[in-house]
Amino acid sequence: RSGLSKTSSALIGRIDSLFTGASTVNQDVIEELEEILITADFGMKTTQMLVDGFQQRAKELKETDADQLRDLLKDEIRRLLDVNAEPLALDRHSPFVLMVIGVNGVGKTTTIGKLAQQFSSQGKKVVLGAADTFRAAAADQLEVWGERSGVKVIRHDEGADPAAVAFDAAKAAVARNADILILDTAGRLHTKVNLMEEMKKLYRVLGREIGDAPHETLLVLDATTGQNALVQARLFKEAVGVTGIALTKLDGTAKGGMAVAIGAELGLPVRFVGVGEGIEDLRPFDPQMFVDALFE
Ligand code: GDP
Repeated sequence: RSGLSKTSSALIGRIDSLFTGASTVNQDVIEELEEILITADFGMKTTQMLVDGFQQRAKELKETDADQLRDLLKDEIRRLLDVNAEPLALDRHSPFVLMVIGVNGVGKTTTIGKLAQQFSSQGKKVVLGAADTFRAAAADQLEVWGERSGVKVIRHDEGADPAAVAFDAAKAAVARNADILILDTAGRLHTKVNLMEEMKKLYRVLGREIGDAPHETLLVLDATTGQNALVQARLFKEAVGVTGIALTKLDGTAKGGMAVAIGAELGLPVRFVGVGEGIEDLRPFDPQMFVDALFE
């Protein structure tokens, strides 16, 4: 399951009929292509990049044929995706510290649960730190995932200092010789200064136990929110050093163009995509699979 069937069916039918009806790539075709891409949430800037590249290469074709145009567009999308498709190199650090941020409801806890379960089923030793101490429910939910996969969850009481949880979790990860420490943080955006201060404190405390931690600050974004997700990504990127994106709920939206826009506009690699609510429904992002599914 690619999670892209909604995006694909909204996009590809229209693209195919556009190209089938086109004898040349004229301004009308370009304008309609722009409109189709924007509807699928590729965003203005990314759409412009795609269309420019497409138009340039279409000019070089001797005769236009719908299949050729389709392949051209597919190739342009693929090229944009390649730039920022870097899988996480988990074995570069031990323990590898993965800090997870994102606003409520985007699927942060679910993503952490899926990651914990997947890593531990690959034989990796995982420790979870429930440093989102604002919501007792978040820590409870993490414990449920933890029990399911036999992963230790470090938590404190609701309202406790997130940095104290991070410190204990880092200590536990080192003591247990863990391969991966995943930290759930509140990472709220009520104010940028607030978030920055909170994150700085977390970094400081973590760094005391594990020198160069965190090794990844993963921002979770909800694909169904479309351009809003891009706005969030920009804000978080300015406030803290985001190093990668997990894009959730791709299965529930026709706005899958988001995945392309994030890389192209923000220069951030999409590490994972969420394609459903089950444990298996989180995948490392694969550009070729993505475009193949999009153009299915
Ligand atoms: P949090 O507030 O960010 O921690 O969000 P949760 O992890 O509690 O997730 C919010 C809702 O989104 C839950 O109902 C999850 O099952 C759902 N969810 C998370 N990821 C995905 C996904 O990739 N696809 C779908 N369809 N639902 C998801």
